[in-house]
Amino acid sequence: MSTLYNQELENKYKNNYDQKSVIVIGGGPLGILSLRYLTEDSSINVICFEAKDNLGGMWYMDKYDSLDPTIDHSQNAFIREHGVVQSSLYENLDLNNPKMMALYKGHPCPKEFKEYMTAEENLQYITSFAEKYNVRNYTSFNTYVNIVRLVANMTEEELANVPFKPTKRFLVQVVSYHNYDKEIRHFQADYIYACSGHFSKPNIQKIPNQEVFEGEIVHTHHYRPKDEDKFANKNIVLIGSMISAQDIFSIFLFEVRNRPTKITVISRKNLDYLKNAVSLQETIQKGQIEFIQQDEYSCVKSRNSLELKSGRIIENVDIILLATGYLYFFPYLDKYNHIDNLIEYYEKSRSFGPLYNKLISINEPHLLFPGCLVGVSQSHHERQAFYAAQYVFGKFQLPSKEEMQKEFEEELEKFGGKRGYLAIAKFPSFIKDHDVYVRKLHKDLKGIEFDEYFQEQWVIYGTIIQNFIANGNYHAMKKDDLSHMDTYDYVPKLGLF
Ligand SMILES: Cc1cc2nc3c(=O)[nH]c(=O)nc-3n(C[C@H](O)[C@H](O)[C@H](O)COP(=O)(O)OP(=O)(O)OC[C@H]3O[C@@H](n4cnc5c(N)ncnc54)[C@H](O)[C@@H]3O)c2cc1C
Repeated sequence: MSTLYNQELENKYKNNYDQKSVIVIGGGPLGILSLRYLTEDSSINVICFEAKDNLGGMWYMDKYDSLDPTIDHSQNAFIREHGVVQSSLYENLDLNNPKMMALYKGHPCPKEFKEYMTAEENLQYITSFAEKYNVRNYTSFNTYVNIVRLVANMTEEELANVPFKPTKRFLVQVVSYHNYDKEIRHFQADYIYACSGHFSKPNIQKIPNQEVFEGEIVHTHHYRPKDEDKFANKNIVLIGSMISAQDIFSIFLFEVRNRPTKITVISRKNLDYLKNAVSLQETIQKGQIEFIQQDEYSCVKSRNSLELKSGRIIENVDIILLATGYLYFFPYLDKYNHIDNLIEYYEKSRSFGPLYNKLISINEPHLLFPGCLVGVSQSHHERQAFYAAQYVFGKFQLPSKEEMQKEFEEELEKFGGKRGYLAIAKFPSFIKDHDVYVRKLHKDLKGIEFDEYFQEQWVIYGTIIQNFIANGNYHAMKKDDLSHMDTYDYVPKLGLF
């Protein structure tokens, strides 16, 4: 891959400023889907800036980790701003949803791909989709967006530093991904798609007294299978019990050659379903894994022990592994947010808003955030991208700001406050909730039929989840044979929403 940005493409974009112009930030799945739908209208002038040297986002894994002491990261624009490399994925990860929900409209994947595709298969699938729609031709690689500004709020002095007189709503500054202070260029746009992802910045909470701990404290973002031996014969405390935690402990218990001696899972959530999981009984009985629920964070007791709120001490701890999730983080919006007010982070960045349909900024409706939902599938992503393009094409109008704000506040109430706002579904009504969200988007779209199969998929997947995840058999779920299902070879139909 070239390490250069695409000068020709950038010039072409600049030469077409008389057209409606859109900048897509990020060439991950959401950037790809956004370009696929935006380019359906040839009158739209569009460019994507991708920091890395290829498409695929998280699924195009970084070749090294930010903790690697042998590599100088000081010039890497992403690491400078996020503190970590972009991808939190690892090679032996399998998707957590079956193919029927992972495929894009009209684009089947090779028959031999697993039902729960491997990360490598998913990357191949995503990039073959991108090739089909010539997404690469609209993407300037090795280019990191470091500032997005509202032109209306810029001072004369600031504008004097821009090599042209901006006439559009947004001014965007980009730099080299590998050399954060080099190759500075400016572009303008009528619309911004923030497709930069939200699974890179680890949510790291300090453990009281952690300075005393002499073992390693590390977030699951940094887990890579090549480090497998680092965990062999070690006592691990795993903080968190959601999907990342379940994925990691399943790998440790059932996949690696040299296993940890013991994994103690500590979580605020109710862990009874894990304690009772049929597939975990043998490992629980052998003492290879233990689940402890507690409301408060533990505290480091000594150089190798933790004290729980109950007073119990966990001795001989080698590694504390944090499966504590990720934070929403948009550094290119943050730098001038005190002036432009483009984003409000909630609950220490576990969520943000205010958004219309969990997609369009209410403060600045030409700023869109595709793919920021949680707990959804690729089929939601594609619907968001389709909906966003129809909006940019002017096929429907948004309600008034007051109406959008009112709706947003009602959603907050429904999801129990700001923290859970970017989920679209809640147990036990989650199957219905998914349907409610996509049908709400569909209401704005005229003349396109709804794909009734959407809900059917969720009914099937809902049963799978209830049988497996809810029973603590998450790792067994990915091994289950679904070939008997009539959905096994299903590819979503083109032309339906
Ligand atoms: C451990 C783990 C497991 C997961 N498993 C699944 C799963 O099974 N199924 C599933 O659907 N999802 C899963 N996900 C979620 C996954 O992140 C999404 O599927 C998907 O990658 C989101 O696509 P995206 O385009 O929004 O973001 P990303 O894939 O993160 O892509 C964002 C892109 O933007 C680029 N970028 C970021 N900032 C800038 C900038 N300032 N300038 C230029 N470019 C920038 C990045 O380099 C990257 O290429 C998982 C996530 C994690 C962490």
